[in-house]
Amino acid sequence: MGKPTGFLEFTRESPSKAPIRERVQHYNEFVARLEDVALNQQAARCMNCGIPFCHHGCPLGNVIPEFNDAVYQKNWQDAYDILSSTNNFPEFTGRICPAPCESSCVLGINQPPVAIEEIEKHIIEIAFDQGLVKARAPRVRSGKKVAVIGSGPAGLAAAAQLNAAGHQVIVYERDDAPGGLLRYGIPDFKLEKWVVDRRIRLMQEEGVEFRCHANVGVNVSINDILREYQAVVLAGGSTIPRDLPVTGRLLEGIHFAMDFLKQQNKRIAGLPFDSVPPGHDNPAAEILATGKNVIVIGGGDTGSDCVGTSNRQGAASVTQFELMPKPPGGRTAQMPWPTYPMILKTTTSHEEGCERHWALATKAFIGDQNGRLKGLKVVDLEWAISDDGRPARFVEREGTEREIPCELALLAMGFVSPQQEGLLSQLGVELDERGNVKASEKQYQTNIAKIFTAGDMRRGQSLVVWAISEGRECARKVDEFLGSGPSLLESKTVPLSARLCKLCIALVFSSCLDGRLPLQWGPFLRPKKPPF
Ligand code: FAD
Repeated sequence: MGKPTGFLEFTRESPSKAPIRERVQHYNEFVARLEDVALNQQAARCMNCGIPFCHHGCPLGNVIPEFNDAVYQKNWQDAYDILSSTNNFPEFTGRICPAPCESSCVLGINQPPVAIEEIEKHIIEIAFDQGLVKARAPRVRSGKKVAVIGSGPAGLAAAAQLNAAGHQVIVYERDDAPGGLLRYGIPDFKLEKWVVDRRIRLMQEEGVEFRCHANVGVNVSINDILREYQAVVLAGGSTIPRDLPVTGRLLEGIHFAMDFLKQQNKRIAGLPFDSVPPGHDNPAAEILATGKNVIVIGGGDTGSDCVGTSNRQGAASVTQFELMPKPPGGRTAQMPWPTYPMILKTTTSHEEGCERHWALATKAFIGDQNGRLKGLKVVDLEWAISDDGRPARFVEREGTEREIPCELALLAMGFVSPQQEGLLSQLGVELDERGNVKASEKQYQTNIAKIFTAGDMRRGQSLVVWAISEGRECARKVDEFLGSGPSLLESKTVPLSARLCKLCIALVFSSCLDGRLPLQWGPFLRPKKPPF
């Protein structure tokens, strides 16, 4: 614990953001870094709680009080070692994670929680600046080959871990560049793409091979992959968007959010818009919000990204609809600390200009004589709330039906499942009742022994932090399957006793097999301050 009285002396401070008028003129990130003193004070607010609930709140099990302490001491090597022992890509989570760790920070009971996400971002960027982040290729190879299909955060994390364990990893990606939604989905103003490129380069130096334009099940044969590799990880994400099949859906001017967002990512990268997966709209048509009244249907992260992008493209107006009622501004009795609170979220994109409506349903799209969208027919909803505080049923409010002008409607209502056509149907892999690839959260193994799965393809549309967590845990199971003995890859699911036991084995191994030990163990072998 850096400073025992830190949480009493300092309050939470966020880094400054570029003024709205300025930042909507470009697509770059606009959040500044904290000054040294401010960063030091933020780290000092961590109380090193006896039971750090933040560990549990973080899907990666990040060792938060320890890295806060190292930041306070300005020991950047320690801070980086501790952070990278549980998170392969803190530069992504430090920018775009909704920070469930902060929701469970003990200080959050009666004060603003520790700024964990900002601290994480600073650790990794300082580590890059100081040259602490180096390619760490395994010195001994197992001779086993693993194919990872999909290069989003789940595939990347699985690939990084399996490579660290000494296996030869080839990542197949159907798009023109690796990164999944990190590259083509999440806007540049939240995550600039050089950040993704920097990590991909590092992974390549470590020995991971990326094959792009490789759509497995379409231009790459799944049978060839099954023949060539000892194990396969399916990390293709959840890509089929939820549709709104009401009257007028086929009018010109109605698009899935992802088609709109991906085009903007490609426009910034100077790339042509190429084919999009089946089930999406005409890929050739350019989708632009410029000068239009835009309505974003869906109130989540994807919707918010459409709001930010529409404002940057110069929309005449931006409105966002949400079917559910407006969430409360703070915790209620139904969502006590340290659970993740489902409270009203106002993103930086909302701050930039957006009219938000809750409890509103779209009944029809209205077109002009040329078949172009000119408005939406909507109605207000009355929600009945159940005993546990959740919205249960709704009825339409009589007399509230009306038309709202709109020339571009963006459908951002979530994703129903992974794409089944192609890869999954050819494999014949078992699916769960929601259409995701079936595998337990403990084993990550499908009904076909050598095929594993992780990320949105297994759990449904979720978060980057969960995708990384699943990729890591899945890699551990693949490593065990490949028969290299009990996996030495770091895991959040292995109990302390088992870890200590493995630590002893690892120490014996390390003395006779120099370089065989996965480097994630580095921080745990440090002579002082082990994290548990
Ligand atoms: P993906 O990132 O979807 O990657 C899957 C990859 O597999 C894709 O590149 C795809 O092309 C490839 N693929 C699929 N099939 C094949 C095949 N047959 N052959 C080869 N390649 C294939 N989460 C957050 O935490 N914070 C955010 O701010 C946030 N914002 C988001 C904004 C948007 C617009 C969207 C859509 C999601 C957002 N999310 C956010 C969610 C997050 O991006 C996902 O949960 C996460 O990317 C899932 O990772 P994944 O690796 O499982 O899949």
